[in-house]
Amino acid sequence: MKVLTLNFLTCARKTCKQNPAAFPLHPKEAELEQIETDINPLFIQNMLPRLDWEAMKTVTNELGLPNLPLETPTAEALVDESSGEPSQTLKDLHSLLMETSVASGKLVCANCGHEYAVKEGIANFLLPSHMV
Ligand SMILES: [Zn+2]
Repeated sequence: MKVLTLNFLTCARKTCKQNPAAFPLHPKEAELEQIETDINPLFIQNMLPRLDWEAMKTVTNELGLPNLPLETPTAEALVDESSGEPSQTLKDLHSLLMETSVASGKLVCANCGHEYAVKEGIANFLLPSHMV
């Protein structure tokens, strides 16, 4: 699962849904892999304003990835001014959000402590019946 995906996941337990501590889920013992994909500047530009940037910074930090900029980059920061080509900022974001994947490990809810297993890049969000 792409690192980007972690910005859209929260704990599946009903009692956690309204609790701010249930987002983001915290990666644990995560094994990362780089999966190369073509850069799509427009996709990233449109995605950025929808991201919870603080949560993105928390998760990338916990994964030991390079630091994200302090604030969400502006659309202007994604283009190299002189050449009109994708900027280094855009390339870095692409690599971090789109190409870096959690291959295996756990995602932990800071509210209830439940650990969701990630295997072969897929997180299992099914809960045992007594926890639903
Ligand atoms: Zn939870």
